[in-house]
Amino acid sequence: MNAVKGWRPRGSWPNSPSLGRGRSPARARQSQPLPLPEQLVFRCLTPDGQALTPTVRKGQTLMAGDVLAQDAKTAARLYAPVTGSVLDVVWQMTPGQGYHASIHYRPTHGRTAPAGSETAQPVAEPSAGPAGSPQQRLAQAAAVCGLDLGAIIRAPFVVVNGCEPDLGIATRTAWLNERTADVAAGVAAIAACRGERPMFLVTYDGQLSDGVRQALVHDMSPVPLQRIPLHVPWGQDALLARYVQRVKHWQDSPLVVGVERVAALAGVLQRNMPVPSVLVTVDGDAVDHPGIYRVPVGSRLSELLHFAGLRSDRLRQVLRGGFLAGEALADLEQPVSWTDLAFLALTRERVTESFAGAGICLRCGRCIHACPVHLVPHQIARWARGGHWQEAQAAGVEQCVLCGLCAYACPARLPLVALLRLAQRRLAPSRSVPQAMTSAAAGDREAKAAASAR
Ligand code: SF4
Ligand code: SF4
Repeated sequence: MNAVKGWRPRGSWPNSPSLGRGRSPARARQSQPLPLPEQLVFRCLTPDGQALTPTVRKGQTLMAGDVLAQDAKTAARLYAPVTGSVLDVVWQMTPGQGYHASIHYRPTHGRTAPAGSETAQPVAEPSAGPAGSPQQRLAQAAAVCGLDLGAIIRAPFVVVNGCEPDLGIATRTAWLNERTADVAAGVAAIAACRGERPMFLVTYDGQLSDGVRQALVHDMSPVPLQRIPLHVPWGQDALLARYVQRVKHWQDSPLVVGVERVAALAGVLQRNMPVPSVLVTVDGDAVDHPGIYRVPVGSRLSELLHFAGLRSDRLRQVLRGGFLAGEALADLEQPVSWTDLAFLALTRERVTESFAGAGICLRCGRCIHACPVHLVPHQIARWARGGHWQEAQAAGVEQCVLCGLCAYACPARLPLVALLRLAQRRLAPSRSVPQAMTSAAAGDREAKAAASAR
């Protein structure tokens, strides 16, 4: 495959320091559920970062599947994943995401699923389950899991992405082995709506045991399970879809759906609205209990880190993602979202040690050879370091998928991904303030004027 030529996986990540005190990596552990918190936070943003306008107000009670926010032009929507009430709607400015609202939400606490089951976490009351025809029921369950069923049905080609997402830190292999039945049921439910149109479940070669693979192939029939080589980057949907279809240039827009959401769909349908959750690896030497956690979407990062035994006195930095492509976080109160995979909590010693070896560019060209989208990372990084954003744009920084392969290959341990991300953020079109925000501000002004008049 042209797009990935040149990169070959190695057995380890030489530029990635070991994560702490000689412990076994988190991949060996079983996932642990984080209890459903008192409060969830949902950012009113689409997966590509566009702001949505909240459609709820403080104090409102909602059912799972009700709309929380939407965009009138694109029909993009954010749905309540669990029955509960709106505590507050807060507007804020987030670096890289612009102005957007966050909805603070109190989930309704209900029964807890039997210990040891996949949903060993609180679930909403049974009465909150979707009613009506099977199609309505499926649409509402999909909405709870953040899936747009209409788009899935219309898409000419759908890939369910079950690839292991991060070679250095986390694994979904154990998860896929555990959740075979849910994955198969979710895929089958979607396939039943799509009729003859093509759909695949994709995993990396060697990711599944023979037994699991056979079970999936049997239960998902006629949806094929396709295995792809490890060198196809997991995070780049277009490359993945091109590889699956074995075409060089993709013509139709592929729709790539995360396997976790598909499994969550089966959970909602079969177990009556469990809170959708995401598997997140927490590691680093500033936590006492590194491991893989099942986290209700919308939980605060600080709650997750404390649950994992954060030693606040020693914490220096938290990275979202791994060493190579991770992003340093300033706000630990932000919510865990569907797209989060791993967090590293690091002490000062570890941060210093990790970046101590960074040197100057040797012009060896390994980063160019590694890049799946044919960029010249060292050149773009140089533009970004000097603040030459237009030059970085002309060099194609916006095509960078932030996969981290260049950083992996770099013998000088340069922070290439951080510089590329910085350039992308600087070049991102400034997002206008949504209408609802200006109305809210106007409402505030009026309320203050009325109060001062009294
Ligand atoms: S992070 Fe960007 S520049 Fe580096 S290899 Fe990946 S796509 Fe290429
Ligand atoms: S791999 Fe690192 S040292 Fe080599 S050219 Fe790229 S940035 Fe420079």
